[in-house]
Amino acid sequence: MFKRILSFYIFLALSMLVGCSNDYKPTLSREAKFFAPVYEPVNSRVAIATSNQGRDIECIIHGYGDDTILFIASIHGDETAGTFLLESLDTYLKEHPEFLVGKQLIIIPVANPDGFAAGSRFNANGVDINRNFPADNRVNNKINGFAGLSEPESRAIDSVIRIYKPNRIIVFHEPLDCIDYDGPAQNLAQLLSKTCKLKVKKLGAREGSLGAYAGEDLGIKVVTVELPEEAKNLSQTQLWQQYAKLIFTAINGR
Ligand SMILES: [Zn+2]
Repeated sequence: MFKRILSFYIFLALSMLVGCSNDYKPTLSREAKFFAPVYEPVNSRVAIATSNQGRDIECIIHGYGDDTILFIASIHGDETAGTFLLESLDTYLKEHPEFLVGKQLIIIPVANPDGFAAGSRFNANGVDINRNFPADNRVNNKINGFAGLSEPESRAIDSVIRIYKPNRIIVFHEPLDCIDYDGPAQNLAQLLSKTCKLKVKKLGAREGSLGAYAGEDLGIKVVTVELPEEAKNLSQTQLWQQYAKLIFTAINGR
């Protein structure tokens, strides 16, 4: 009980720090539930924020340790193969918790739940979440959002990055059939490329993208796995067979 109360007050202090750095004012009760696990080993699925249409933005947390890895899928709601991969990863880790000694995984399986439900790249406001981050190269407009972090989906991801400080971020997209990277992630990208048919290709950080923000500006290793067009036609089992090794390497690689 004492640990829980302590966690709550540590969260309050953290949330005030985050609050100082931008205008995001998270709902206390939801975020308190989410951030408390930083201090305790957990294997849990929690709602970290709510989309414009009222859908939960969920986060799965596995393991506990100094090496933190963030996985994200369906930031573009019509690029869903990564979501199936991350759900398979969740199932695998529940059955093999020993796999994560000294590591903590933060998984956001559906970063844009309104777009996911509508089969749309954009969120319910018509904003591209992967152009809505406060990167140095951002451009404000209708598609990118009229301000960085104007959308609940990008704010949720930004909060996770600020609180958990991941050592590397792996994001799944489609259908460009390559592995792209931002920040100091060239070696990791090459390591992941060896596990599958995807070749490393530097696409260049798009304006206000997660890669531009977290990779180029914050200096975190960001690898973007651009699955091929055919990924849409693969079953969850087939996807796992083809890309489980990439995911395991991302977890173990530095
Ligand atoms: Zn995409």
